[in-house]
Formats: sequence, structure tokens, C-alpha cells
Amino acid sequence: MKYSLMVDAYEKIEATTKRLEMRDLLANLFQKTPKNIISEVTYLTQGKLYPDYMGIEIGLAEKLIVRALSLSSGKTEKTVDNAFRKKGDLGEVAATLLGKKTQQTLMSRTLSVSDVYKIFDKIAQSTGSGSIDVKLRFLSSLMNDASPIEAKYIIRMALGKLRLGVADMTILEALASAFTGDVNNKDRLERAYNISSDLGLVAKLVATSGIEGITELNVEVGRPIRPMLAERLSDPTEILEKLNGKAAVEYKYDGLRMQVHISPKISSIFSRRLENITEQFPDVIKYVKKSMKPKEAIFEGECVAIDAITTDFLPFQMISQRRGRKHEIKDMVEQIPVKLFLFDLLYSNGIECTQMSYQNRRKILTEAIKPNDWISLSEQIITTNTEEIEKFMNRAVSDGCEGLILKSTDPNSTYRAGARGWVWIKYKRAYKSELADTVDLVVVGGFYGRGKRGGSYGALLLAAYNKVNGKFQTVCKCGSGFTDNDLKELPSKLESSTLSQRSSQVDSKISADVWFNPYLVLEVSGDEITLSPVHTACENELRKNSGLAIRFPRFTGRYRLDKSPEDASTTKEILGMYNNQLKKISI
Ligand code: AMP
Repeated sequence: MKYSLMVDAYEKIEATTKRLEMRDLLANLFQKTPKNIISEVTYLTQGKLYPDYMGIEIGLAEKLIVRALSLSSGKTEKTVDNAFRKKGDLGEVAATLLGKKTQQTLMSRTLSVSDVYKIFDKIAQSTGSGSIDVKLRFLSSLMNDASPIEAKYIIRMALGKLRLGVADMTILEALASAFTGDVNNKDRLERAYNISSDLGLVAKLVATSGIEGITELNVEVGRPIRPMLAERLSDPTEILEKLNGKAAVEYKYDGLRMQVHISPKISSIFSRRLENITEQFPDVIKYVKKSMKPKEAIFEGECVAIDAITTDFLPFQMISQRRGRKHEIKDMVEQIPVKLFLFDLLYSNGIECTQMSYQNRRKILTEAIKPNDWISLSEQIITTNTEEIEKFMNRAVSDGCEGLILKSTDPNSTYRAGARGWVWIKYKRAYKSELADTVDLVVVGGFYGRGKRGGSYGALLLAAYNKVNGKFQTVCKCGSGFTDNDLKELPSKLESSTLSQRSSQVDSKISADVWFNPYLVLEVSGDEITLSPVHTACENELRKNSGLAIRFPRFTGRYRLDKSPEDASTTKEILGMYNNQLKKISI
């Protein structure tokens, strides 16, 4: 298949803001795709080469791309760089520069999708000394064969910023429509995606074996399952009502969520964002292997840093120091000991457990693990009584936890991979006159600081994620809660996500001094949620021309590096928090 066919579809997708139109354009592209390259086309459309959990990224540095563009266009690096500063998008710069060049030099060959995929794969896989030159050579060879419009997407892909703005759900709908003829089959595809975390695999199965192929997909050790998520409420009576009067109430540990996959051949740990973090936690692998009874299993738990002497829990910031450290990991294991609290079991010795009720899973989990000092099950009580819940909350807080998670004990309390539902409900400590819970918001813009904050940002524009249309919609400008050190570090933390104009994924009525690619997630507390004419989250949902805003937002000091922007608080959650507030006022 010619790469130009994909690029034509991209151009049309980029030109529309209508989700259904995007879906139909994609479905059309999938239909035209030969089945043997459907996975590649799916990954490329996501701006990737493999599922995220494999951790293989293209992400070439801007500088290198400027060099490649200079080589293939015959312009100096300075000219390319100046054009970039002006346009803010190296993809557009590539299209313009090559547009001029191709008038004289005819393209040497027609690029196929497989050519593009294979060369990017070589770029991504080349490591070690000399790899920069190799990458540069491969990218230049692609550029030599690319038409101007192909160059635009090749360069964006190389930067790791394809940004077509198509959400995973839109891709699933397009696949359902293209290969089963019925968009409603999306739910079955979604289930397959949720248990495999691999859209390319889902695409291949549905394209080659239709809906039957999808139904046969099973949980597999080594392939992460998209995590089940919790709803939130701040009143135990209400929570019990939601859970039909009875709940499995557990400590909510404040650490890193881990999905641990063990078999005789595989030992892997995946984070909440499904990154492979095995290398940073060799001790956890050792503990699990030592204490598990089945030969192969997939466990879920929260891993907390502990004080080696007192065994008290240490703040989340401590365990997060382990992440991203590959070399000093031996020292880290000694300096920051951790304990794993298991709260779920998704697979055990050939049996898939995700369709079982929670109590059945917990029973198998209890039998599967021999607890010791470094690994145990989450503290739990089963109750129908709000007083008991409050007592358990006090115990949890004095034991160093941030609250409770209440879980359904109904027979249909299956593990809802990738979904947030009223099967798990978090209940965090409430602070007077503050939002009962913190929210996790995405940095989309910045405002230059003055005076003491000169040289850094005075405030950041923060957004929640609208899952329906895949946009990041603003909820507040936040300038409080940042320490001097945070302020010092912010410019460099945000530098690589700086854009010259607002990202098409961001909805904002406010114009920021600097725009960012949605990437960094911050935990924020606030006083209350109010209607706002200037913010775009939930706009027109409650009142025409009004959105929702967080009043007096404060950064809690916690960068949620474990969350991708799509894992941030959703606009639907913000709306839920607003409605809950109203209920409280009217009581
Ligand atoms: P939040 O990150 O605030 O959305 O809260 C949900 C998170 O709480 C989960 O993703 C887990 O990482 C964490 N957690 C801590 N303890 C438990 C538990 N006992 N059961 C489920 N999740 C837990």
C-alpha cells in the first residue's frame, strides 16, 4: 500500500473536528489496507510502532530532525531552525522546504507504508554509540523519497508528535465498522483491547478472523491488562447505597500501582500507565516469586516505600525516586525498601479471573500468596455499616494511608479492565471547605512570572480530559502550591512540550503566553467547583456559554508521572464533583 494513501486520509482527518467524520475516514482507510499490514497501519495512525507497553519509542530530538531536513532540502540548519521558530511545527516546515526542492529533483521512488514502518523501526531499534548517525541516515533516506505532504507526517512521526487527535475509542469504532460492518461491535473490540493493551493486535484479529477472532483473545502473561479504575464519593452512606448496601472496604495505599506478571519464562511489572518498570523493582519480582503458589499468575497491587527500621509508610515521592533509575538501582533497592500490597488477581495457572466476582478473585488471591514482611494482601473488612467504615478510615489514616477504596461484593463485580465504574469507589479523607478529593490535571499552557517568579511561570493553565471527544478542556489557572524548587525546575520540565500555538487537542478560551503539548499531569486541590464563563470543561452542559472551574486551585507538590494525560481527571468526573457539592449544599 502506498504511504500517500495513508497521508491523504491523515490530511482529511486533520481537517475535521467532527469525531464521527474522523471515524468514517479511518474506517475507509482500514478497508483499503491489505490485511497483512493492518497492525502497522493502526500503530502508525496512533503515532507509534508498537503497543506502549513495549516501551519502543521513535521520539527523535528536534536538533537531529533539523539536521536531517537541512541535508535533504539543501538549506542551512539555521534556515530550517528559523522556519521552525516561525511556524512552530517541523512537519509543516518539511512540507514547505521539500515542496520547493521537488520542483527540481524528482522523487526517487514511491514510498510504501511498509517502507516507512520498517525504516522507523530501524530508527527506533538502533541504540548505542554511532546510533545518532544511523538514525540520521535512515531519516534522510525517507525524506529523499517523500513527497512534501508525506514529509510533513514523517517528520511529526519522527518527533513522536503525530497528533492526529484520534482517540483509541475512535480507532476501535472505525475497526468495528470496517471489518464487522457494525459500529456497535466496538464494545467487543474494546474488551479485547482492554485485556491486551494492543490496538494493532485487535486490528489484526478483527481484520483476519472477524468478531470470532476477537472473542477468542485471552489474557496472557506478559501482556498487560488495562487497569480498572475507581469512581469517587465523599459520603459513606452514599457509597454503600451505590454498592447495594455491602462493601469490601480496603486501605487505599499511597504508592505505585503495579501489575505483576510471573510465569516460568516471564517476570514483568507494569505501571498504571502500562510502562514496563521491571528493571526498577528487582526486589518486588523476588518477593512475588518467593511467596506465590501458582506457577503463573497476574497480580495487581500497590507498592509503597517503607522505613526499614520503623516499617512506617513513606510518602509517595520516595518510591517515585526509584522510577527512571536504571543504573543505581542496586543502591536504590537498599535505600528505599518497598512493600507490595496485593489487591487483585487477574489470572492464575491457566484460569482467567477477570470475569469472576471480586470475592472469588480475592479468595483465589488469598490462597495464592504466602504473606511475609515484604508482601501482603491489602487490609480489608466486609461491612454493611457506615460507622465501621468511619472507624476503618481512622485506622487507615493513622496507618499512613490516604483513605479507603470500597469495592462491590455483588456477583457481577467482575474486573472491568480499562473502565471506571461504580464497582470500586474511592473515599479519601475530607478537608473542611476544600474539595473532598484532589484532581489530576494536565498542563496545557503557561503564563510568564514576574518579580520573584521572573524567568519561570507565574501560573499554569490546567485542563481535564474529555474522554468523549479526546480534548483537554481548561478548568483553572494555578499559581499556588509551587515551591521555589518547583518554580526553578518548571521551565526545563516543560521545555520539550512547548508548542508555538495551541495544540489542536486543547480547548481553551483563555490565551496563554506559552502553549504546551498535553503531557505533564499535576495533582491539584481546590476549594470548590464553580460555573465559569472562561473555562471550557463541561461547557454548555449545565449552562449555555459556561464551563466549570476549580476555585483556589493549589498544586499539592505531586507530579503524577505515573499518569498519562489521558489518565488525568475527566471532565465527567469534574461534573460529578460539582453535582455532589450541590447535593451537599441542599442537605
Ligand atoms: P487514584 O489514583 O486517586 O485515582 O486512586 C485509585 C488508585 O488507588 C488505584 O489506581 C491504585 O493505584 C490505588 N490503590 C491503593 N490501594 C488500593 C486498593 N486496596 N485497591 C485498589 N486500588 C488501590
